[in-house]
Amino acid sequence: MTPLSAISAYSKPLISNLSKLGIQSVQGLLLHLPLRYIDETHLTAVRDLRVGESVQVEGEIVHAEVSYKPRKALMARLEDASGQLTLRFLHFYPSQIAALKVGKKLRVYGEVRSGFFGYEMVHPSCKAVGETSVVAQTLTPVYPTVAGLSQASLRKAIGLALKQQAWAETLPASLYQALNLPSFADSLQALHNPAADADVAALSDKTTPQSRRLALDELLAQQLSMRKHYARRRSVDAPRFMPSKKWVSALLKSLPFALTAAQQKVALEIERDLTQAHPMQRLLQGDVGSGKTIVACMAALQAIENGWQVALMAPTEILAEQHYQKMLGWLKPLGIQTAWLTGSQSKKDRELAMQAIANGSAQLAVGTHALFQEAVQFKQLGLAIIDEQHRFGVQQRLALRQKGQPEPHQLMMTATPIPRTLSMSYYADLDVSVIDELPPGRTPIVTKLVSEARRDEILQRVRESCAQGHQAYWVCPLIEESEALQLVTANDTFALMQSIFPELAIGLVHGRLKSVEKQAVMTEFSAGRIQLLVATTVVEVGVDVPNANLMVIEHAERMGLSQLHQLRGRVGRGAAKSTCILLYQNKLSEMASARLKVIYESNDGFAIAQADLNLRGPGEFLGLRQSGVPMLKIADLNRDADLLEYAKSQAEALLNDYPSAVEQHLDRWLGHADELVKV
Ligand code: ADP
Ligand code: MG
Repeated sequence: MTPLSAISAYSKPLISNLSKLGIQSVQGLLLHLPLRYIDETHLTAVRDLRVGESVQVEGEIVHAEVSYKPRKALMARLEDASGQLTLRFLHFYPSQIAALKVGKKLRVYGEVRSGFFGYEMVHPSCKAVGETSVVAQTLTPVYPTVAGLSQASLRKAIGLALKQQAWAETLPASLYQALNLPSFADSLQALHNPAADADVAALSDKTTPQSRRLALDELLAQQLSMRKHYARRRSVDAPRFMPSKKWVSALLKSLPFALTAAQQKVALEIERDLTQAHPMQRLLQGDVGSGKTIVACMAALQAIENGWQVALMAPTEILAEQHYQKMLGWLKPLGIQTAWLTGSQSKKDRELAMQAIANGSAQLAVGTHALFQEAVQFKQLGLAIIDEQHRFGVQQRLALRQKGQPEPHQLMMTATPIPRTLSMSYYADLDVSVIDELPPGRTPIVTKLVSEARRDEILQRVRESCAQGHQAYWVCPLIEESEALQLVTANDTFALMQSIFPELAIGLVHGRLKSVEKQAVMTEFSAGRIQLLVATTVVEVGVDVPNANLMVIEHAERMGLSQLHQLRGRVGRGAAKSTCILLYQNKLSEMASARLKVIYESNDGFAIAQADLNLRGPGEFLGLRQSGVPMLKIADLNRDADLLEYAKSQAEALLNDYPSAVEQHLDRWLGHADELVKV
């Protein structure tokens, strides 16, 4: 990598601004690609203007004024040989008033609109014209930038970087020529300075061969890096656990149900991993209610039967407690000791639990984040199971892993299905198992989209349902900006429900309650002594109350699709027909209605996740994983799905046949970030 300071023409302030954009090297600057392009290669006569087009017009200012009605605006008329065009500025500086004086010759660029006085441009970009000035020879790139760094300085800096020739080819020609893609150098040149006759639309959509070439490079870098980490992990030692001979079958015999075929399949995949001498890194995906917990318990038994300890970590106290109860019920009859560890238990209880974990008398430890704290020492941790893995950060998962010596096996679970393109890219370093079927006998949930205006009907519905002996959830709106406000809303809703339904036993659960209080409410609800549970989104994960068959979600439009799907999964757990009512505010944005439509039309977690990915990009899915895996900047998993397939198919051969080119390629695209990809 060539540091920016190697180019003497780059000033300190420029370098500091570039670093705000995440650009540290000349190579990094070259990979800072335009957002879009504008065409200043020719001039359009006023007579030929068309509304909606972005064009360049040259003329002389014939009139200029600052008007105050209806609001302050700077207006000017620009005239060429064929007619006049209005320029309008709603925000302006004194320097702009001076630049738009009558008699000035200007070249303006902007989108043509139809205004009160004919054609107009609002906030066009303006340049003074000298007698001999010529039009641009190439399309003008527009780059992502930060305050204080103008497009002009950025273009100049990139122009200089292009002269450094810091763009050695890192891929064998056959690899990119097979897709008819150009060389890396040609691609960079063409993207930073496209020819005047280039296709602006294709350039802006990033579908030209040059854009695709760079997207391919980026996707390859991701694949190569993931594969290297995968291979490195396979070279690390882990304890081997022979398949269970007694406890797993004893557990299965004690269950009131038989495993589904999908559960059997994934259980086998995990069983096989655990017999290997290198650490398992498996992600178990399965829609809400698909029965991941029992599969995790089977894996735990295999480790325990081989004499090792197991940690089971959940992101919230409610969920961890529920796992603990479940594990106790399953494992106690087998004579297995389970410890319980959270941040909120008494000091004495925690010390006892920690002791049992340290001396090995606890074979299983269930808990929250408390499990990976410094002070917690396992005697012999062989398997770490992490529920709702996306809720944990890279550091947290690493910390739990480091509690074992040698490295423990890891089983991560998620109810948020990961669309195929994502698991092929950001999750390519993990092995994935999918439970793709629900246990039999579940009645599908009916989802209804209802406007706020019909709230009274919904309240009536809650009343009737509870009168019939069922239970209901009322989920308060999500208020992301303020936890305090969220609390106020939850309390208000609770009070309101109490006044509307004096005959019902109503409970309230939110994130600020102490865990014993939370647990007390959940226990009451599970036992049926609370009929209506007012809740924030803390009920999103895990909670399992089969008699609850109605859920009302307020302001559903504020929530993510996968989150809504998770919430909805809290009902439909028993034999009775269940309904989920999504209350929305009357004025829905186009995006919001598109999203609610998806959740309304589909009960399939995978389809919902794919739609969420398309609508909102990968950020939501990756959650904290982001901090460990560099995000794609150029490639788009949707648009470039074919390139992703290709990169995946080529990565292995590249690693084997061109190891030094691979290193150069990774250095260019990931630099030190490659070191971060550890999980
Ligand atoms: P999730 O995958 O969402 O974590 P759980 O493991 O909590 O789902 O399982 C949901 C419910 O289904 C639990 O009550 C569990 O005991 C039950 N269950 C799991 N597997 C089966 C099965 N094969 N047949 C019937 N019920 C099952
Ligand atoms: Mg679960």
